[in-house]
Amino acid sequence: MKTNPLQHDPSCMDDLDPSSLLTDEATRQIQSRIAPTFGFEQINLRSALGRVLHEDVRSSRDVPGHTNSAMDGYAVRGVDLPKEGTRSFELLGTAWAGRPFSGEVSSGQCVRIMTGAPMPAGTDTVVIQEHVQLEDDKVQMDCSNQLGQNVRRAGEDIAKFQTVLETGRKLTPADLGLLASLGIGEIKVFRKLRVAFFSTGDELCSIGEQLEPGCVYDSNRYTLYGMLKRLGAEPIDMGVIRDRKQDTFEAFEAAAKCADVIITSGGVSVGEADYVKECLEELGQINFWKVAMKPGRPLAFGQIKDAWFFGLPGNPVSVMVTFYIFVQPALRKLMGESNAAPLHLQARSESKLRKKAGRTEFQRGILSLDASNQFTVSKTGAQGSGILTSMSQANCFIILPLEAESVESGSMVEVLPFAAVV
Ligand code: AMP
Ligand code: MG
Repeated sequence: MKTNPLQHDPSCMDDLDPSSLLTDEATRQIQSRIAPTFGFEQINLRSALGRVLHEDVRSSRDVPGHTNSAMDGYAVRGVDLPKEGTRSFELLGTAWAGRPFSGEVSSGQCVRIMTGAPMPAGTDTVVIQEHVQLEDDKVQMDCSNQLGQNVRRAGEDIAKFQTVLETGRKLTPADLGLLASLGIGEIKVFRKLRVAFFSTGDELCSIGEQLEPGCVYDSNRYTLYGMLKRLGAEPIDMGVIRDRKQDTFEAFEAAAKCADVIITSGGVSVGEADYVKECLEELGQINFWKVAMKPGRPLAFGQIKDAWFFGLPGNPVSVMVTFYIFVQPALRKLMGESNAAPLHLQARSESKLRKKAGRTEFQRGILSLDASNQFTVSKTGAQGSGILTSMSQANCFIILPLEAESVESGSMVEVLPFAAVV
């Protein structure tokens, strides 16, 4: 196991723990252990939005199926068009989308054609209607046109037998349209991932309950619910578990029966009333890590019976950061999604960013473009791990690497824009 290389640094790094695990190493360990969840279902096209394909889709036909006009105009033989001056063409009839012109077009003739109508036999070029002069049944065209223009070739979007979408693809609105254009009404997708989650802590109240002195409303179940929903998982809210061993034990057993993945928040640090660790040691194979990151730090990962387990820290921002960085890619893999590498950017920091060496920091930022089209980022106020407004206002993480110290305003920093998850 790779540990923090800065472990010999002086004592001013009070958060530094020589046994802490690097962020990338934690990710690598999680990703190397999990594999896509078994099972698929066949569902109709509309229900497949946001689901992950469990099959390669090959086209059984050309799209478009026939060479057709891209514009409203007149179909001609391109070689007939004048090189200079104008030429008059005899008008034979009209080709409509869905009602083709059945005759053959010879030299000096043309057919009125609508967008999407198949090109009449003999024609290969469309002159748009704004570029012709009409005189009785004659159509005048000038020398500004080019052979082959305004025509969409059969198969130019999708060729017959081509693989259009591959296993692991999370289906977008464009994909639904693509599948519809192939006449595909049902598709095989990975079955939904069931993710049970609960909060731990005697201080937590649920919405609707009277807030007793010293208590807080449980917000983690809502941020987790939102992120799971957006990822396309099936969230199973198991409520708040009190800091009692028996309750915690029973909650884990129940969750392992109904879910593929269990996520908890709170109780993984070593507070007196934290029974999560004790129960997990009896029930499953779990690693307890101190990750060299902020916010975050305590993280548990492993298995309880057949379910994967993620024990996240309790602080509201820490939950979201550790979910985003570790749980999100893991769930995507379990759901069968092929890895789309996240887009990291470089931006100029408009804030001074306080930072200690020895941990990777995920500060919350607002990324924008300045007047000269350069990315700039500013932090969202105070960065404490309990300050949920910092996440709510942010549109990106500013990632400050392990060995970095404070960053002056005007320096370039690495930025990870939020995908549509948080
Ligand atoms: P813990 O890791 O259980 O010691 O919790 C760390 C901090 O996060 C404490 O201040 C808790 O009150 C807070 N916290 C834990 N769980 C939640 C939750 N579900 N919603 C809001 N705050 C929480
Ligand atoms: Mg607690």
